[in-house]
Amino acid sequence: MQFFKDIYNLFFPELCLACATVLTNNENIVCTSCRFELPETHFTKQKNNTIEKIFVTRLDVVEATALLYYKKGGLVQNLIHNLKYNGHQEIGVFFGEWLGNEILSSNRFKSLDYIIPVPLYKKRLQERGFNQVTLFGKKLSNILDVPYKDSVLIRETESVKQSKKSRLERWQNVNHIFKLTEKNSFKNKHILLIDDILTSGATIESCYNCLKQIENIKISIATMSYTK
Ligand SMILES: [Zn+2]
Repeated sequence: MQFFKDIYNLFFPELCLACATVLTNNENIVCTSCRFELPETHFTKQKNNTIEKIFVTRLDVVEATALLYYKKGGLVQNLIHNLKYNGHQEIGVFFGEWLGNEILSSNRFKSLDYIIPVPLYKKRLQERGFNQVTLFGKKLSNILDVPYKDSVLIRETESVKQSKKSRLERWQNVNHIFKLTEKNSFKNKHILLIDDILTSGATIESCYNCLKQIENIKISIATMSYTK
């Protein structure tokens, strides 16, 4: 089998999904050099980290983390682009396994009851065919032994392009775009809300406000990446 795999790879070499160099036989998804260059935040083990500080005056979040720093033109941007637009869902699995193990060894994010993704708008989901955080969430679910629930929150409208708006406009834009489908089974539960990129926190804040309609719900946050 290895022989056929080698021949196949000769014609269709597997490329690093961060830097596009040819992967060797024992490399998977990213090359060894990228694996060590990926900019880790180390937020998972850190109390009062940058993300928790973003939310501290706005939301009552139990704990929050992001795995990597996202920079324009950087390796993480390439990975997330390949995940979202080139169908490389294995990148979500890769991030989920990495962050899941980080959480396990952190002594934080204890007593989670459910993992819930920031949902995509239905039309966007149909276009793309998948939510880019689904396999990330399922891998986290598998490693942390916490059920993954993607039916509790739905997105009612598509937010327009965020980048040229002020923070206030962004906030108004994303507020009230999510809707709850059920409340009862999440009463008194601690949920981990997950997304791909955390920027201003406006999307997360909007999901948070929606989930807070549930009695005594506790919310933690985990994203693949964070950009300043
Ligand atoms: Zn690479």
